[in-house]
Amino acid sequence: MLLYIQYIIAGRQLEMNAIALIDGNNFYASCEQSINPYLRNKPLVILSNNDGCIIARSAEARILKIRMGEPYFKIKERLNKLGVIVLSSNYSLYGDMSKRLMNLLKKNCEKIEIYSIDEAFISIHRPHNKDLSPWARKLRTLIYQNLGLTITIGIAENKLRAKLANKLAKRINYSAGIFDLGITNDKNSYLKEINVDNIWGIGTQTSRWLRSKGIKNAKELKDMNQNELKKKLGVVGQRIQLELKGYQCLPIEEKRNQKKEIRVSRSFSKPITKLEELKHALAIYTIRASEKMRAQNLQASSITIFTRTSHYSKFNYQKSVYKKLVEATNDTNIILKIVIELSKEIYHPEYKLTKAGVLMQELSEFTYFQKSILNYSSKNKLDKERKLIQTIDSLNNKFKNEVITWGIAKKNQSWGMNRKLLSGTSITDIEKIPTIII
Ligand SMILES: [Mg+2]
Repeated sequence: MLLYIQYIIAGRQLEMNAIALIDGNNFYASCEQSINPYLRNKPLVILSNNDGCIIARSAEARILKIRMGEPYFKIKERLNKLGVIVLSSNYSLYGDMSKRLMNLLKKNCEKIEIYSIDEAFISIHRPHNKDLSPWARKLRTLIYQNLGLTITIGIAENKLRAKLANKLAKRINYSAGIFDLGITNDKNSYLKEINVDNIWGIGTQTSRWLRSKGIKNAKELKDMNQNELKKKLGVVGQRIQLELKGYQCLPIEEKRNQKKEIRVSRSFSKPITKLEELKHALAIYTIRASEKMRAQNLQASSITIFTRTSHYSKFNYQKSVYKKLVEATNDTNIILKIVIELSKEIYHPEYKLTKAGVLMQELSEFTYFQKSILNYSSKNKLDKERKLIQTIDSLNNKFKNEVITWGIAKKNQSWGMNRKLLSGTSITDIEKIPTIII
């Protein structure tokens, strides 16, 4: 009964408020095109870490039917023949552009939930005439003028329908990147256009089950027998069906749930066999993971490190080791010592290691610092250590370029990530800002 009343109340609110899903188009490729005019209107693809496979394509590359996930070495020649420009991924650029995009969105909505690097749900008041298209057009122009990025805006009564509206905006030619499912009269015919496997929250297995029951699209899932759905998918399935019907079950979460763990792991550009190399790699990942924790005001109570050989290797080896800390921390100095010590336990001289990583676990907010009774350091000493780390973080934030880091991170890396095709320009590295000589 209570649930029913909640839906009725939510239903009333729907008339006033709308939810929009903003999505950056071909985001990684668009970021590159935005800072380098030479790349605009040209077919461009971005490669994954170690230049492995294609993870993003510009609109022009999509037209040439270049597929996502394709291994680079397999289609290198074809890309060459077609004149497609190929770049290594540059995550510091994409992260920076994402921050700028989200900041602009924040100023133009009531509530925002940053969902991924290029997606955000926002809540917006619907005017009396219910037409949000002037607002959406203005927002698209603003983002394009400020960042050179195009966005797609899907508007509806709730998050799930906003996701569908966004898909429809991309598909419908006359939509110009904006589609408002909330005010369309013939909602059912639009819902019919979305396949079940394209619905937010429906995975491969669920969509297979739905198809076996004859449910092929969003309209059929909306009208499906609710008991059957509940029996198979529980409350998650029920929520999806209610949102498809137009009720609001999923709120905008301005503060995302606290992360459960922070992981930094990479594949090496070539296999490593020496303990020193493994230590070196793990040290770099630890420095990065500790930085990430501090940026989110978190601390870890346990750590796991791991390494493994290639999945394709005949001699398979993988090992991880877990350590519970005496007291939670995000101090690089402390964690680094522990990780370097632990690395001996996962190393094996007979195997060619191709990947390693560190996981910071049992995260809690840094404000709840619990000093162990075994920690004899004076408050003065602890404060000094904290200030030193804060200074390092603020200098690195200001100059971006890891101006200060731990000595071990500066050693030569023969195994470092392959990014041979990195674009020369950057907006996060002062050294790479183009110089104009007059
Ligand atoms: Mg996108």
